[in-house]
Amino acid sequence: MSKARQPIPFICDGACVIDSHCHLDMNDYGTDLDAVIARAVDHGVKGIVTIGIDEDSSAAAIEIARNHRSVRATVGVHPHDAAQASDAVLSRLGELAAGAPDEIVGYGEIGLDYVKQYAPPGIQRSVFRKQLQLAKTLGLPVIIHDREAHQDCLDIIKTEGPFENGGIMHCFSGDIGFARKVIDCNFHISIPGIVTYSKADQMQDVAAFIPDERLLVETDGPFLAPVPFRGRRNEPVYTLYTAQKVAELRQTSLEHVARISTQNACNLFGYRFCC
Ligand SMILES: [Zn+2]
Repeated sequence: MSKARQPIPFICDGACVIDSHCHLDMNDYGTDLDAVIARAVDHGVKGIVTIGIDEDSSAAAIEIARNHRSVRATVGVHPHDAAQASDAVLSRLGELAAGAPDEIVGYGEIGLDYVKQYAPPGIQRSVFRKQLQLAKTLGLPVIIHDREAHQDCLDIIKTEGPFENGGIMHCFSGDIGFARKVIDCNFHISIPGIVTYSKADQMQDVAAFIPDERLLVETDGPFLAPVPFRGRRNEPVYTLYTAQKVAELRQTSLEHVARISTQNACNLFGYRFCC
C-alpha cells in the first residue's frame, strides 16, 4: 500500500478530537469548506477552532463559527501583520469579540516571528503586549505564535501575566526545557502535524513529555499537513494522524490522547464541543 493510501485513523469508544488551530477562512478552503468540516466531524474531529490573523479574517472566522456548531473562532493580528495593527484595528477586534460571545473562544494568533520578520521585531513586541492586555480585558485565553523567539515570548508572557484564562503555545517548536517554562506560565502546548515528520526528534520528545492536562493537537491547516499528506493542503480531519502519532510516542491509545486533549480544549476554550 502506498503511503498516501494510509487510511484515516479510526477512533472508537465515542472519543473525539479537537483541532485546536486551523485557518478555515483561507482561500484554500474556498470551494469546499462545508465538505471539509463535514469530513472532519464524520471521522471524529468534532471541534475545530478557526483562528483570526487580521481584522478581515477574524470577522470571517466568526461568520464560519456562526454557521457551524462544531467550529468556534478567535480574533487577533498575526505577528506578520503587526505593522498594520493600529490602535483602531485592535479596538475593532475587541468589539468583534465582545459582539460574538457565543462564537469567540480565544484571542490570537498573536506573538513573535523572528524568521520571516514581515514586521520589525520592535513593532511585533509592542503589538504582542497590547494584544495580551486586550485578551485579558476580554477574559479570553491567548493563542501564541512563536518562531525563533522563545526567550522574548517568554519574557513578555511573564511580564504581562498572569493569564487566568490560560493560553496555548500553538505549533510548539521549543525543547522540553522551554515546554516546562511555558507550562509554568499556565499555558497549554499544541502539537501540529510536524510531529509525524521523520526528522522531528525534538518535537517528538516534547509530545511524549507534555503532562496529560496540558496537551492539545492541531493542524494549522491549510499548512503543515502530517504524513502521509505532507506537502498537500492540510485540513482538520488530518488531526487524527497527528493524534495517532502523539499516542504512539506516549505509548498509549489514540482514544486516550483524544479524551485528554478534548477535555483540555473544552476547559480552556470554555466550550462544550459535542463529542
Ligand atoms: Zn496559525
